[in-house]
Amino acid sequence: MSYQVLARKWRPQSFKDVVSQEHITTTLMNALSNERVAQAYLLTGTRGVGKTTVARIFAKALRCENPQGVEPCLECSSCRGINDSSSIDYLEIDGASNNSVEDIRSLIENVQYLPTNGKYKIYVIDEVHMLSTSAFNALLKTLEEPPSHVIFIFATTDPEKLIGTVLSRCQRLDFLPVSLDRLKSHIEAIAKSEGISFESDVIVEKIAKKGNGSVRDTLSIFDQVISVASSNNIMTSDLNQAVGLADDVLVDSLLSALYLKQRNELLENLDKIAAKGVNPEGLCRQILEELFFVVENPSENLPVDYTELLWIYESLSRDFSWAMESLTPYMSVRFVLLKHIYREEILAGTSASIEVEKKKTIEKPKPKTWDGFLEYTFEKKKSLGVNLERGNVLGSKVFDSAKKVELGFKETDKIFYDFLMEPENKKELLDILNEYCQFDVNVELKLLENKKEEEFKSTVEIREEKLENQQKDAEENFRNNKFLRQAEEVFNSKVNKIVLEKNFKD
Ligand SMILES: [Zn+2]
Repeated sequence: MSYQVLARKWRPQSFKDVVSQEHITTTLMNALSNERVAQAYLLTGTRGVGKTTVARIFAKALRCENPQGVEPCLECSSCRGINDSSSIDYLEIDGASNNSVEDIRSLIENVQYLPTNGKYKIYVIDEVHMLSTSAFNALLKTLEEPPSHVIFIFATTDPEKLIGTVLSRCQRLDFLPVSLDRLKSHIEAIAKSEGISFESDVIVEKIAKKGNGSVRDTLSIFDQVISVASSNNIMTSDLNQAVGLADDVLVDSLLSALYLKQRNELLENLDKIAAKGVNPEGLCRQILEELFFVVENPSENLPVDYTELLWIYESLSRDFSWAMESLTPYMSVRFVLLKHIYREEILAGTSASIEVEKKKTIEKPKPKTWDGFLEYTFEKKKSLGVNLERGNVLGSKVFDSAKKVELGFKETDKIFYDFLMEPENKKELLDILNEYCQFDVNVELKLLENKKEEEFKSTVEIREEKLENQQKDAEENFRNNKFLRQAEEVFNSKVNKIVLEKNFKD
């Protein structure tokens, strides 16, 4: 069996089943029992409060072949005809989608003919305020002198849009928003009968609150919650998921951060809520509802002054409206909340001290290199540096976590090697090395065999070679200089020697 939406499945069939609106059902039942039925009724009220449902029940009661008191029997052909929309004496149209003059003409063209059976022909026009002016005028003519077997029932969410001539010809019945308690007991009754339970009573309360006085909306929210729930026991998380509500715990944390003016905590909670896909409008409403609850039920350990709380509620409700109209609602909500935290500073015109969590900058250790060490040694003790650069490091030039640094010297540079091998000098060298590296490291000096010397170059040799190459490049560049070329042409000669300044590189 396919799932039938609750609002349809639980649509009241009799006056006694109508949720709330007793002032209306009583009026209509009295009219039936006294046989003082008006020729036109106007049912007003917000969406989903039972206007068309009551219109149908009233129509069934008016046409029932076997009424039970003033209630329809629901079994006769008239009752069934209205229920399955097959009756030709009961016409129901939606003024929002059938609002042309032709629609109204075709509806009322048979008004003068008697019903095929029963006493009344009943015309229901839902959202009657949506009719076009010409459609309205066509309707008005009939309404001025309706045949006695015709009853009009108009329903509207916006009676202010109806012209006075319509209002004056109708008995007006104003439906009221259904109270929270009544919606809650309605949900509970349906749940019980459907075999559904709740993890907490708060779920019922929240569904009812979100229904906002409308039975239909309440039941459609209940339907959504049922559809996401994995079992017949509905959890708070099902509700949050179905209606995009934020976790209560997060909203509470956000509010306490707001009271205590804790910027980082506030933003942290707001980000968590946003990450769960809660829409900004729903969040604003939740914050205001929670605040309102606190205003109504102040506790002793409230971290703010009560007047402060009233102020927060009043200004947040105003600022949130602005935030919802902005192009970036979430950012604006963020801004509004921050503004509240810094309200005092803003009013006093002082600057706010924002304790932004400082990112710890982890200082990346500089690589300990041979060149770095050499430079360090020159700074510490030049005589050691001078000797040291006659050798070179064997292996990696980076001393990361090496236990030992091996330095090689050519046989021809033995004199420098010997100097460094002197115990006092070697110790000093080792100290400087450890100081430079900042980790325990040993040093070993090696005098290289002749055959290896060909590939080995001392630091000084490498530097000189590099310098020589740079000089050659610079000379080459200079020889190719176009002014020099022109000079050679003019003088019909060749440049013999180029002497570069010491800082030729620049
Ligand atoms: Zn009946």
